[in-house]
Parts: sequence; structure tokens; C-alpha cells
Amino acid sequence: MHIMSKKIIENAKVVLETGILFDGVIVTEGDRILAVGKRGEVTPPDGAERIDAHGAYVGPGFVDIHVHGGNNLSTCLDAVEACEFFLRHGTTSLLATPAYSMGFDEFIANVRAAKAAMGKARTLRGLYLEGPYTNGKYGAHAHRYAWYGQLKPEQYTALVDAAGDAARVWTIAPERKSEGLCDFMEYARSVQPSVVFAVGHSEATPGEIRALGKYRPTLQTHSMDATGRLPVSEGTRAVGPDEYCFHEPSVYCEMISDSLAIHVQPEMQKLLIHTKGVHHVVLITDSTVRDNPNPPELSHVTDLNFDDRGGISGSKMTMELACRNVMTHTTCGIAEAFMMASGNPARAIGLDDEIGSIEVGKRADLVFCDDIFNVKQVMLGGEIVV
Ligand SMILES: [Zn+2]
Repeated sequence: MHIMSKKIIENAKVVLETGILFDGVIVTEGDRILAVGKRGEVTPPDGAERIDAHGAYVGPGFVDIHVHGGNNLSTCLDAVEACEFFLRHGTTSLLATPAYSMGFDEFIANVRAAKAAMGKARTLRGLYLEGPYTNGKYGAHAHRYAWYGQLKPEQYTALVDAAGDAARVWTIAPERKSEGLCDFMEYARSVQPSVVFAVGHSEATPGEIRALGKYRPTLQTHSMDATGRLPVSEGTRAVGPDEYCFHEPSVYCEMISDSLAIHVQPEMQKLLIHTKGVHHVVLITDSTVRDNPNPPELSHVTDLNFDDRGGISGSKMTMELACRNVMTHTTCGIAEAFMMASGNPARAIGLDDEIGSIEVGKRADLVFCDDIFNVKQVMLGGEIVV
């Protein structure tokens, strides 16, 4: 019988969802976490390989649910290489994300490529479909958006079938209900019952979101980015998807926290965390493949991407930078940053039985870092890979 290898990680500050275990120990067996505790509480198993964490924080591997690519690699078209790139920065699970502005042929080619990479790209956990049934007014590439008008069943059935059981998230604009949106959502859920609907690239009123009934979104695609609000009467503050998602307890809100807080200003980052609570904010990179030059007035920006018109188009971030940035712009500490970068995203897409926190029985996906999220080592499925 094959004996699965055991490892014991010692001298670690173990970041749990309940707090930080100083002088902590983690035992792994095969690709799973076997035991967690303080030194002295956990008996080292015979023959276990010892790993000295040298006092580093050891937290759950990052889960980036919304990432188009990075380092000139697409998470769809170059999934294997893109996953390896992000793994070096601590991301042990990601969802490949095609760009919403693609036309049908390009979109389905991206979906098929990512689906085919499932099982080969070792951190790929599925697809985040940011569109295409959103509101063409919103987003960096709005001028290229081509999915206007009544939804075409022959197109959405082809897309849903291509994604199959790899589909984890579909982003929709609820204001398109009269164009056949619910027929699409019904079909998407019939093919993948656990799929999550997200509201994004939208100016829906809270009433339009509620009108989706059982298809109401439980996730918001990049809160406070590419969202609109339509005024009801002059002189009053309009409300839209942001305001609905702020107070609706079932909704997780994605947040892009870049180094200069350009996507979401510090006051809004604090407001979002305060309003939703630290358990319902999901850090994402929204990192994109493209690498256009910065516009002159933003020449000092290092972690954002720009489209060919100089508009902000996602980021060049990796998750450890998102964690550092949110600690810079808000009062969050390390454990809270891990909560938003690992635990909450895993819960938002329903994979929290497997990943997202350090608990007995879950996958041994771990990030070793210092107190400002410099990544020192990464464990994936019980193996040190970085
Ligand atoms: Zn995106």
C-alpha cells in the first residue's frame, strides 16, 4: 500500500479564520491538512518531513476568482503557464476569466481553451464568465461591446455548453430581463446547478435586481467599478447595483485594491468593508493580459493596465499585492486580508469545503509570507512548489 507522505510545518504564525496561532504547527498528509495547533499540542508524526517556516505567517493559498491574465499570459488561452505565474505569487486557486468585450467567436474559443485546460493547469478551478450579457455602457472596452439586443438562444446555449461544469460564475446585467436574460440564466443553471450569478457592468435598480427572483445575484463583479445608477428625482442620490449589494446580506462584493486606490478610493474601501463586514468582501486582481503604455498623467502607476485609449483596464496585480494594498488603504490586518483573499472568495463560489482556509481535511494549499505579504514559500496540495 502506498503510504502518503507526511510533512510538519513548524515555527509558523498560522493564520486561521478565528485569529492567528503564534508558534503554530501544521501537519499535512498527501494533499490534505491533517492537524493544526500550537507547538506542543500537535504530536509530530513518525517519519514526517520537517519544514521550518522561520517565523513566517502561514495562511491559506490565495483564491483569485476574477483574473484575465498577467505577465502577457491569458488565464484562458495560456492557462497552464498563467497558473504557474500566479502560483509564484501565492495564488493556489483561480478562475479563468474571458474578457466581456470579446465577440462570440473569440469568447467561445477562450471558454473552450480554459475548459480543455482543467486538470492540466494545476491551480485552475473553473471559469468566471464576466458577461457577455451585461450593459454595454459600462467597462473599459465599452466601445467594442457587441452583445446588444434580445439574447440569442443559439449563442447562449453554445456558450453554456462549452463551459459545462467548469462554469463557476456568470456576470449579468439585471436590466436586460426583458431581453430574455432569465431564459439564459435558467439554461446556465440547468447545465451547472451550482453556478453563481454576479451583477456587474450594470445600472440596474434594486427593484430590477430583486425582480430576478430565484436568479438574484449573490456576488457583485468589482463593486464600484463599471456600475451606474439612474437618478429617480433631481437632487436625490441615485442608487444602483452598488447600493443593493452593500446591504443585501447574501451578496459577496468583489473589490480591486490597487496601490494608489484608483479603482476604489480609500474611503470607499473602508465603507465597503464596514458595511459588508470583513466576511463578505472578496479581493480580486482583475489582472489583464494586455500591457499598453500608461497615459502621461498616470505615468507613475505601476500596477494598473490601460486600454488603447488610455482608460483604466484592469490591473497588473497579483493577490499578495492586493492584500498589501488593502492593509495600506484601510485598517485591515493580515488575518483580515487573508479572509478577503482566500476564505471569502472560496465561499462566494461554493468551493469552501476544499479550499480557502487552514482546517483539518482541507487541501494543503498554503502561502508563507512576512508581515507585508512578501511571499517566501508556497505549498500546493501538500508539496512545496515555490
Ligand atoms: Zn474583469
